[in-house]
Amino acid sequence: MAITLDTPLDQFPGVGEARAKKLEKLGLTRCAQLLTYFPRDYEDRREIYSIRSAPLGRKVCVRAMAAEHPRLARIRRGLELVQLRVVDQAGALHLTFFNQSYVERALRAGEEYIFFGMVEEHGSRRAMVNPIFEPADRRNTTGRIIPVYPLTAGISNHLMLSLTQRAVEACAGSAQETLPPSIRLEHGLAQAEFAYRNIHFPDTFQALELARQRLTFEELFYLSAGLTMLKTRRGGGSGQAVPSRPQNDFLALLPFPPTGAQLRVMEEIAGDMASGRPMNRLVQGDVGSGKTVVAAFAAWLAAGAGCQTALMAPTEVLAEQHWRSLSALLRPAGIWVGLLTGGLTQKEKRETRKALAAGEIDLIIGTHALISPQVEFRRLALIVADEQHRFGVAQRAALAGKSEQGGMPPPHVLVMSATPIPRTLALIIYGDLDVSIIDQLPPGRTPVETYVVHEDKRQRMYNFVRRLVGEGRQAYIICPAVEEKAEDGGQGGQWAQAEARPDLKAVTTYAETLRTQVFPDLRVAFLHGKMRPREKEAVMSSFAAGEIDVLVSTTVVEVGVDVPNAALIVVENAECFGLSQLHQLRGRVGRGKHQSYCVLITNTRSPDSLARLRTLASTTDGFRIAEEDLKLRGPGDFFGSRQHGLPQLALADLSGDLRLLQEAQAAARSLLQSDPGLTRPENRPVLERVRRLFADTPDIFN
Ligand code: ADP
Ligand code: MG
Repeated sequence: MAITLDTPLDQFPGVGEARAKKLEKLGLTRCAQLLTYFPRDYEDRREIYSIRSAPLGRKVCVRAMAAEHPRLARIRRGLELVQLRVVDQAGALHLTFFNQSYVERALRAGEEYIFFGMVEEHGSRRAMVNPIFEPADRRNTTGRIIPVYPLTAGISNHLMLSLTQRAVEACAGSAQETLPPSIRLEHGLAQAEFAYRNIHFPDTFQALELARQRLTFEELFYLSAGLTMLKTRRGGGSGQAVPSRPQNDFLALLPFPPTGAQLRVMEEIAGDMASGRPMNRLVQGDVGSGKTVVAAFAAWLAAGAGCQTALMAPTEVLAEQHWRSLSALLRPAGIWVGLLTGGLTQKEKRETRKALAAGEIDLIIGTHALISPQVEFRRLALIVADEQHRFGVAQRAALAGKSEQGGMPPPHVLVMSATPIPRTLALIIYGDLDVSIIDQLPPGRTPVETYVVHEDKRQRMYNFVRRLVGEGRQAYIICPAVEEKAEDGGQGGQWAQAEARPDLKAVTTYAETLRTQVFPDLRVAFLHGKMRPREKEAVMSSFAAGEIDVLVSTTVVEVGVDVPNAALIVVENAECFGLSQLHQLRGRVGRGKHQSYCVLITNTRSPDSLARLRTLASTTDGFRIAEEDLKLRGPGDFFGSRQHGLPQLALADLSGDLRLLQEAQAAARSLLQSDPGLTRPENRPVLERVRRLFADTPDIFN
């Protein structure tokens, strides 16, 4: 059968219906996808050693002859050993295979093989356990650099390797070259065919590096091109000029003097909004740095010009909290602050929408509900997205479309993020935004003390909770799951883990245990994302009012919630969370004048997981934590599953590819400058690729 790029994988030899299904799980249905299914690692099996010369401590290939027929022994049920001695001119090697009885028939005395495995030395005796092997004269997986693919249950690396090998041999040559030749030449990039061959089966590591460079560049190039087009669509054109007002009038509303960093960012915002071009600004500030004040300032400016502001929060709890604190702050200035969340009654919603359309509400606060088509504004001039990583690029674009309803120019956009984003990633995700950084915390904060504590010291943690509550403080206890075996509640990846891990603490049952057995004398309540908005609101406000001592919760409290009297946060199954997420959770405490604590409970013994958690104990610098997180988990995972609405990057290792990213970005921009819609025939392939890349991000190319 002739294999083409379109050949379905179930027509490949060795792939039946069952395997085809499993491959589909990896996103693989057609031959063309194999070409871009990149290895996650490589094993250098080029060098073939003699028994004596083989280095210890890493896997290597050894050429040797079976000196005897393999001996099969059944030690006990479920444990079979195959053993034999292999030799070459100068030495002997003892091989042991566990539970691979087929080896008894696969290896023949007197034949030569290549064995790939780790050589161990016991005295003068050399040994190898469970090596891979093949006949010395029919080598396929030894004597070369071997790709290691991401796998799933039922799909071995061996199978993947044979599939990609067929795909590359049949189709690498027909893979379309989509990079314009001028760009390829200018940046010294390899051709598509070379890149596909060598990313899978490199002859040398230099060839691999050239392939990787080319493919990473193209990935970043198409991404940059898409983002640049998005930015252009959003309009670099004219915006609403919101004149500045004397800053002191705003400062007089605040109960505290702003920090220098807050002042600086306020000035940057005032400058943007007065410029007559639409503001597109990201404000990054660590948890507790006081971003809300800055948003309030922008809304105050807009209201002064008779315009409306929409503030989107990621959760209803947070929307309500913003509504309370911003009403208190801005009402004295004559600004009407409204709330629009799913938790309101139909009637309340209708009235709020009416007031909004009539232009009576100056600042509306809500969640995604604000982008529903029923919501109309009269003079929307400013959109603030709080904790923006929960809002996709597409959602931002949809909200921006709102102002066009009233025939208004595009609105100013202010994005606030507490997730310090490594520079490389920020360049990509916010390639279209200006960035302000609040790099200063309000005075008088003492850093949160953080401890990593093993399960078996749980009792001490309980005593500690009791002691702090005795001193009048409050505590959060965070669990990874809502309740045992509930259906998916939009908690994404955590649920998959929760199902597979019965030991994970579940909010409702755990809260019950704490309430009845551990802290019968304390006031314990729970909070999770599946509760009705009214219930959530009730729990949160009584916690804020000090009527609850211990709040057992999922990560719904992760973002933004502000209860200064809470001085302790305990995170159960801490190893399940990402570092940046734990840092966010920790930001829930240390907001008042009391010394605060963060206790990370874990039962892991894995040195890697423990080291990861200890990073958190050793620093409170959000940027350092974010870098570490990026290194450990990769960009795809960084914000949870695709919440940022950007295409997944297959290759680009963003912690190291800053230079390549800048080159790709410059190339994309200059191409778009000469051909903004990519309409020239020679640029069609680029447009096609960008379209496909952003296929999941609606609203960008229509
Ligand atoms: P975040 O940046 O995490 O959103 P918030 O805006 O919620 O931080 O502010 C955290 C806390 O710090 C709030 O209680 C807020 O009132 C307080 N705060 C903000 N700015 C200052 C300041 N300049 N001086 C003192 N307290 C401040
Ligand atoms: Mg906040």
